[in-house]
Amino acid sequence: MSTSATTEFVENERQKLLAEQGQVNEELTHLRELMQAEVDVEPDEGDSEIFEREKNAALIAVLERRLQDIESALKSIDKGEYGICTRCGNPIEVERLEVKPDATMCLRCQQEVERLSRRNRPQRQIDW
Ligand SMILES: [Zn+2]
Repeated sequence: MSTSATTEFVENERQKLLAEQGQVNEELTHLRELMQAEVDVEPDEGDSEIFEREKNAALIAVLERRLQDIESALKSIDKGEYGICTRCGNPIEVERLEVKPDATMCLRCQQEVERLSRRNRPQRQIDW
């Protein structure tokens, strides 16, 4: 049996999301500072410096996406739509929200979407 999210639970999740939002913002600021810092590269260290910057750029992209997820989760809390699957409209499993407070889909839909996105080519429709 799946219980839907209670007000207390949602408030708790909101706190978690806000805390994480703060952390991610802090990390992004730090990484952006690193990226903007004057690069003083020794010829020998050029490769590892470039590697570091590429790694940071990738991390920034991941964190920015994470921040968007957190923000949209916070927005859905404000609208009273938190914990509702955006795909099928059923309540998202509370256990799932505890692990991933910014989940926007129930487990079944998430798995379905991931399965579909793994298919690169459109499959031929079999119509019996
Ligand atoms: Zn769903």
